Amino acid sequence: MAVAVYPGSFDPVTLGHQDIIERSSKIMDRVIVGVLKNNSKSPLFSVQERVNMLKSVTGHLPNIEILAFDGLLVDFVRNCQADVIVRGLRAITDFEYELQMSQTNRVISPGIDTIFLTTNLKYSYLSSSIVKEIAMYQGDISAFVAPEIAVKVLRRAADVKNKRPS
Ligand code: ADP
Repeated sequence: MAVAVYPGSFDPVTLGHQDIIERSSKIMDRVIVGVLKNNSKSPLFSVQERVNMLKSVTGHLPNIEILAFDGLLVDFVRNCQADVIVRGLRAITDFEYELQMSQTNRVISPGIDTIFLTTNLKYSYLSSSIVKEIAMYQGDISAFVAPEIAVKVLRRAADVKNKRPS
């Protein structure tokens, strides 16, 4: 059985992430979306909130599971009894970092390979950071995230902005 882990911050999950999840669910028997805790970025949403948002947009896909993780990705992959990491490649700018990560992971864990899905052209410019930036100004993010996610992001962005000193 081919089991993959699709890791990321998903702060918040975008339509670009959803596209990669849907496509990998067709290629693999099972895909575990790994939501990274304790990353160096300070996230807009807690890991539990990010897990819940991912669950709400992937509920229609029976072979997808959402789990939080911290520590080394390869350890999480092994604990999941998976042997493949899925990553999305948007543009050449993603390439260098992704290549370095996948080669490092293969050295520290030779049984684990990384496969890359190139982004759907529709979403090649899209990132969680851009969505958050627009949301901070209460802009329209409906082309970038699912409707239920847009509501949550705009509400959280407004809360954060109100708490900042002017
Ligand atoms: P990370 O902080 O690990 O980059 P992200 O949540 O930003 O986490 O991204 C997780 C994965 O999803 C990465 O492989 C990234 O390249 C991919 N990804 C992000 N945005 C898109 C998009 N618009 N289209 C395709 N893949 C994407």
